[in-house]
Amino acid sequence: MRDFNFCAPTKILFGKNKVEEIGPEIKAHGTRVLLVYGGGSVKKMGLYDQVVTLLKAQSIFFVELSGVQPNPRITSVRDGVRLCREHNLDFILAIGGGSVIDCAKAIAAGVPYDGDAWDFPMGRAKVVNPLPLGTVLTLAATGTEMNGNAVISNDDVADKRGMGADSLRPKFSVLDPSLTFSVDKWQTAAGTADIMAHIFEQYFTLDKGTFIQDAIAEAILKTCIEYGPRALNRSDDYEARANLMWASSLALNGLTSTAKPEGDWATHQMEHQLSAVNDMTHGAGLAILFPVWMRYVLNEQTAPKLAQMARNVWGVDADDDREAALKGIDAVRQFFNSLGMPSSLTQGGIRRDDIPGMVQKACLFGPIGGFFKLEAKDVEAIYLNAL
Ligand code: NAP
Ligand code: FE
Repeated sequence: MRDFNFCAPTKILFGKNKVEEIGPEIKAHGTRVLLVYGGGSVKKMGLYDQVVTLLKAQSIFFVELSGVQPNPRITSVRDGVRLCREHNLDFILAIGGGSVIDCAKAIAAGVPYDGDAWDFPMGRAKVVNPLPLGTVLTLAATGTEMNGNAVISNDDVADKRGMGADSLRPKFSVLDPSLTFSVDKWQTAAGTADIMAHIFEQYFTLDKGTFIQDAIAEAILKTCIEYGPRALNRSDDYEARANLMWASSLALNGLTSTAKPEGDWATHQMEHQLSAVNDMTHGAGLAILFPVWMRYVLNEQTAPKLAQMARNVWGVDADDDREAALKGIDAVRQFFNSLGMPSSLTQGGIRRDDIPGMVQKACLFGPIGGFFKLEAKDVEAIYLNAL
């Protein structure tokens, strides 16, 4: 096994009503808060009122940034940076899903930075001394509640890109599974697909000898396969919501990629362009692309790992690696279909004419992927196969 450092310092407050503990957690880092949330779900579920009452009870000053959209826009980030500077804020509290939390992270990075926050996703600036942030998660999907990444969209240039730094890991995250009872079927399914996609991105490497990382990854996939459908069936199934929520955090906090090379991440980069062009739900785009990517990269070198997933996760019984891999890929497609996710770009509203622009942006900085390096012509072929 390769050497590695592992540090996932976010304090997790897991369980019913854990939000009540945020006062002292915030005060350990700041006293003037930017409260960030989305389009209103936190108000409908009563979380907003609860948080405001808690902040007032602790005499914590706060200013609000609302209306952060799914696929969060750089315009919201700029508004947040302005508010933090105007009011001299020293802490950010994000209450919502991945979009709200990612927006909060980009704001945290942008406040001490002299240039425009879009410089971070474009790789033109490094994150230095961001504001500290905490989160109350309301959707199990991205893992952003325990990692240092953020993904931001820019409508002016029809692009969506990731940024990241360890210093952007939240100081604390409240994970109350009952806050996800109100997540609808579409977002529950997309979230499950996203969790699985994060595992795929790190699981598929050509390295050998990472038995423990692979076993943890396979357990997280099985958790999604067991509990995704249960949460769809009964929205307030606490056991299902709890397992999905913890799976979300563990899938992308660095645990399953320890001792591995960077991971693949080509499918995420290809998906970001679907979201940029058509505002597609991230998990739905991944559900379309992942089986197509798996089929495209299947060759003699990659077959053993794809076959390992097929056998250990989907119970495929086939001696030949290629045959096992193909059956595993079918199982992935069928599972995403059973969750109600789309299986083609056309279903997702993407047109053939969109593809050249998406290819260009996905490969802006050169070939993508680690398990299998994709040149622009490969990315184009995958988009076309997914049409
Ligand atoms: P999201 O975009 O944050 O939220 C999707 C929708 O779900 C919103 O309309 C939101 O409504 C609603 N919602 C959230 N919680 C709800 C609840 N408890 N009840 C009812 N509705 C609720 O979804 P997400 O999947 O968590 O985040 C997706 C974003 O994260 C994408 O931009 C993706 O690229 C990014 N991402 C980030 C990472 C990372 O590591 N940072 C990894 C993967 C993906 P409101 O707006 O009204 O709240
Ligand atoms: Fe993702």
